[in-house]
Amino acid sequence: MSLDSNCLFCKIIIGDIPAEIIFRNEKVVAFKDINPQAPVHILFIPTIHTPTIAGLASISSEMTAALFLAAAEVATAHGVEDYRTVFNTGEGAGQSVFHAHMHLLGGRGLAWPPG
Ligand code: AMP
Ligand code: ZN
Repeated sequence: MSLDSNCLFCKIIIGDIPAEIIFRNEKVVAFKDINPQAPVHILFIPTIHTPTIAGLASISSEMTAALFLAAAEVATAHGVEDYRTVFNTGEGAGQSVFHAHMHLLGGRGLAWPPG
């Protein structure tokens, strides 16, 4: 497992920074977003450090798929049938933490297109 000791989300993986963790397996950790934008707003992160989803996909298709499988399982567990999964890539798209992460948003109606 390759982590970056300066990365906020790597610190959450190893427990150095607290988070409300709701799912964990060897490939994925999921925890509640600290600034929720919907009644259900959960972040899914791979257990290796890579800044973007494109980087993760180039390293491991299995770890990439694991994010989506975890999201489906967690959504079902929260009784959420309709939800949105989002990766922001780059500052211009709203990425503020450079450890690849997928947002799961649900529990309310979601407009399209997003802002
Ligand atoms: P993004 O802007 O797509 O990079 O998403 C980063 C997300 O991480 C934001 O929605 C933040 O609210 C969330 N976030 C930042 N710090 C923490 C933290 N310590 N615990 C949980 N979520 C966090
Ligand atoms: Zn990291």
